[in-house]
Amino acid sequence: MTNAAHPFDALMEITARPPAVFVKGEGSWLWDDTGKRYLDFIQGWAVNCLGHSPPAIAEALAAQAKLLITPSPAYYNAVSLKLAKALVDKSCFDQVFFANSGGEANEGAIKLARKYGALHKGSAYEIITFEGGFHGRTLATMSASGKKAFEPLFEPKVPGFPKAKLNDLASVKRLISEKTVAVMLEPIQGEAGVWAATDQFLKELRALTEAHGLLLIFDEIQTGMGRTGKLFHYQHAEIEPDIMTLGKGIGGGVPLAALLATKKASCFEHGDQGGTFNGNPLMCAAGLAVLEQVSQREFLKAAVDAGLFLESELQKLSARHGLGDVRGRGLLLALDLKLPISASIAAEAFEAGVLLNAPQPEALRFMPALNVTREEILLMIERLDAILTKAGAARRVA
Ligand code: PLP
Repeated sequence: MTNAAHPFDALMEITARPPAVFVKGEGSWLWDDTGKRYLDFIQGWAVNCLGHSPPAIAEALAAQAKLLITPSPAYYNAVSLKLAKALVDKSCFDQVFFANSGGEANEGAIKLARKYGALHKGSAYEIITFEGGFHGRTLATMSASGKKAFEPLFEPKVPGFPKAKLNDLASVKRLISEKTVAVMLEPIQGEAGVWAATDQFLKELRALTEAHGLLLIFDEIQTGMGRTGKLFHYQHAEIEPDIMTLGKGIGGGVPLAALLATKKASCFEHGDQGGTFNGNPLMCAAGLAVLEQVSQREFLKAAVDAGLFLESELQKLSARHGLGDVRGRGLLLALDLKLPISASIAAEAFEAGVLLNAPQPEALRFMPALNVTREEILLMIERLDAILTKAGAARRVA
């Protein structure tokens, strides 16, 4: 046995991380082990919808931990029943399967669609997905993703995911055949840099899938739970998908995800799906605490206002520095920097105590807590402004 030389060495190196070690979080703020404070506009990648360690979740977890942590998914438990019923009541879906991550929920959605194909569509199994899409890191969800960097990895991929172009209905039509069972998309492509499907495209996609008897699957792992100003993004387009996946925000920071389906699409039979931790009361208690807050009209209204305020402040910032568009919806926004400098801007921001995400070389993504305050938004803008000024000056000198 070898001893790790540095505490970091004991973890598999799966991404480049800054050397800070976080020890505490509260609301929009994180602290590292030196006591340095960071204003967090990443929030675990749109996960902490109520901010870091919110009392509602901490208390729900502590109370549930004392009562019952997990009885086995082979038995009903009161908390998962309550959360499933609440999700069904607040959405257009009839049944829920709980998962532990977004990737797992999407894997379940893919299996559900294939099962539907096997039962009702002559074993059709192809699911049309989209260039630039991101659905997770299991083998099937990587195959369903349209992320260029995934293409050479872990070959051979799972077959059956032809790729269409977002907002191009003809590109979807061209891929439909007797093998097609479903169309799956993120209503806003988050990892690709916050590129939204238009409401019109989503409406047309619903009509097209209905006309061909195809299932429509919404991956709302990033856009769901109030992130775009409605509880679920599909409500903006006033359509009803057949299947939806939730992750990230639904647990408010703990590993919880969900696969929801209408009665028609909910066709798993015994043995098709399961998992040791799925629907455990501890995580579902956090889910209930989140849903109780996020589904309140006043909470969503405040999140919409915060999103509009952030958007207008980003637009002013962009105008001051001659940058590009601000895009996205609600509190899932991106700023186009027009130059491939997002990674260095995010690194500078980190030094200045602000966490910003650089999903694409030219884009910064903003996904703060849904209860972020105007003061926090202005502070982030002030610090980013200073960094952009410095970067602009450096470019002029060079
Ligand atoms: N789908 C979307 C739209 C996502 O943004 C993500 C994560 O970023 C996933 C799926 C995968 O979720 P997880 O990382 O929880 O497996």
